[in-house]
Amino acid sequence: MPKLQNENFRKYGKGLAHLESVIKTGGLSYRNFRETAGPELLKVFDIDKLLEEINRSRRSCFSCPVGCKHYMTGKEGTELAGLSLPLSCGLNPIITAINCGVTGWPQVLRFAELSNKLGMDQISISAIVAMAIELYEKRIITKADTDGLSLNWDAATLHRLVHDIAYRKGIGDVLANGLVEASRQIGRGAEYYAIHFKGIGGIESRIFLSAFLLSALTNATGHFSNIMFFKTAGNELVRYCKKIGMTDKQIESVSSVSDGYNVPRMTKWADDHSFILECLGICMHYIYQEFDVSMWADLYTAATGIDMDVKGLFEAASRGRDMRKAFNMREGATRKDDGVPERFLTESVKFGENLYPPLDIASLNSLLSAYYEERGWNPKDGTLSPERIKELTMSSK
Ligand code: SF4
Repeated sequence: MPKLQNENFRKYGKGLAHLESVIKTGGLSYRNFRETAGPELLKVFDIDKLLEEINRSRRSCFSCPVGCKHYMTGKEGTELAGLSLPLSCGLNPIITAINCGVTGWPQVLRFAELSNKLGMDQISISAIVAMAIELYEKRIITKADTDGLSLNWDAATLHRLVHDIAYRKGIGDVLANGLVEASRQIGRGAEYYAIHFKGIGGIESRIFLSAFLLSALTNATGHFSNIMFFKTAGNELVRYCKKIGMTDKQIESVSSVSDGYNVPRMTKWADDHSFILECLGICMHYIYQEFDVSMWADLYTAATGIDMDVKGLFEAASRGRDMRKAFNMREGATRKDDGVPERFLTESVKFGENLYPPLDIASLNSLLSAYYEERGWNPKDGTLSPERIKELTMSSK
């Protein structure tokens, strides 16, 4: 099993290199977020065994020397025979299939192959399938809604629903409307089982509320940013902060907590760092986060002839984040949209031997307020001041 090291990023691809750390930090939700899969899965998803059963070649985005993507074909005589799968992240199909109760390399990779061929996003599609199976289990939907189909926590159901959603067949016609709209149309309390952040599949937040999670909650669309912060502290944290150009005072403000780091303050900086890479058209994956931001500023100056420094890049990132916020304010988004699914506020989750309680709404609210404050937004409702909107030459009306 590969360790979380940069050389493994290249060898195993960006997802598989992080599988062990994701499993150990409770990142694999099981059966629509009712449970969390534990380290026993490391045996099921043995990467070295997988590599024996596939032929694999590395793939790269244009001009990237890293090549963290793979093209896999299954070897004859194995359960993976016939598989033909270009894969940009080996972790996504694992995370998403497990949430539908499906484990094992053949089942998960066939799901990835099918969703690729049908042009379906694995995170979104599996969140919808997990919801549908739980609704069937709870008898909120029955065979009368599914044209006689039984929905179970298994690979056959996952593969069948991916297909039926793509072709809008049977219950797939309703599910194809997405988590929010499908659960609203089904009614009878179905909304509670639609586990999402702003409409797309959520991520477990009860075990460890990191900057990665707070960023997904507070950004414009609920998508997962590539902030890779599980449990970072001490020298590792300070090294990262220096690399992204934070001053000693700013580093002190994020690291002066007894365990880990100040989540809301750090989220702001890590968010802006990702945003800089995104705006410059540079890969946001972890290996590119290893470079000093000052190097990106120098390259920007060299390419455009416009003087740029680290401070200027972070100002531009804040401006970009604020413009997204102003757009969302204009479209009616409120602080409520930065919330977590109700299940996370009402149910505990088991991980290994431990039971993690529901999120405390008061603590979550105080994290959000601190994040808004760090961004210069109104800590009460997360809005921009009229002066800032004017500065951005936008209107909130
Ligand atoms: S640009 Fe990023 S995603 Fe693409 S191959 Fe390189 S490291 Fe992987």
